[in-house]
Amino acid sequence: MNEIEINCIQCGTKTREVDNITFTATVEGREIVITRLTGTRCPTCGEEYLGADSLDKVEEITKKFRKPKVVFKRKITTSGGRRVLGIPDEIDRALGKKENADIWLEGDKIVAEVY
Ligand SMILES: [Zn+2]
Repeated sequence: MNEIEINCIQCGTKTREVDNITFTATVEGREIVITRLTGTRCPTCGEEYLGADSLDKVEEITKKFRKPKVVFKRKITTSGGRRVLGIPDEIDRALGKKENADIWLEGDKIVAEVY
């Protein structure tokens, strides 16, 4: 753990390093509880501040629980020797006039950032 001093945002007291923070969140209707996180805690009012490593861990875990609300099923077809995936109308409308995309793989997922 590093030695950065953090003063409590709520009351201004200098916080103390701890390794037993419990983080709870509701993602997609499911409650997630992550225990034994590191960070600091205010000895006066009990406010807790997650450390950078813990924030990464929380982000990583909550991401796994997040699912898109609507999933469109499409067949990958072949056109001119290339595999082609059509953009569903609903998504195309939402994209508006954007026509550039950065595409990458996350496991079996094709992720496209359109701009
Ligand atoms: Zn405080």
